[in-house]
Amino acid sequence: MAGAVAVPTSCIFCQIANNATSTALLHHDDKVVAFQDINPSAIRHYLVIPVEHIPTVKDLQRKEEDYTLVNHMSEVGKMLLLRDAPLSKHRLGFHQPPLNSVNHLHLHCLALPYTPRWRSIKYLSLGSVGFIEAEKLLEKIRPLPRVPSKKVN
Ligand SMILES: [Zn+2]
Ligand SMILES: [Zn+2]
Repeated sequence: MAGAVAVPTSCIFCQIANNATSTALLHHDDKVVAFQDINPSAIRHYLVIPVEHIPTVKDLQRKEEDYTLVNHMSEVGKMLLLRDAPLSKHRLGFHQPPLNSVNHLHLHCLALPYTPRWRSIKYLSLGSVGFIEAEKLLEKIRPLPRVPSKKVN
């Protein structure tokens, strides 16, 4: 279709989001799906991805739609970690390009400790590079306050 945004069929995360792989989904709704990282770095390591193909955090904007999506991804991640590893310290965040692995936005949800321990270096926050905590990203894309036309939770 002319003008339609092509979803890369080679994108493994699009395939997972459309349930076209054997990957077991821990959660799915019409906006996001969650599954286990195939190469876990912690005792629990889940990924939450949007169903829609959004390449990286750099493609997110300070707008209601993006904020709501990331907030939802984070809520789903927290819910799964609380269910499966309630006593662990949890970390949720994103790799910023160029240090991201797959070019389909994915939230890393980690229940510590890291396994093995040196894996923690993959999740260092280094400001504008490296890993960005979900909370910090949400602050960056939180829509600027204006006269609300509808109530937001
Ligand atoms: Zn994709
Ligand atoms: Zn990643």
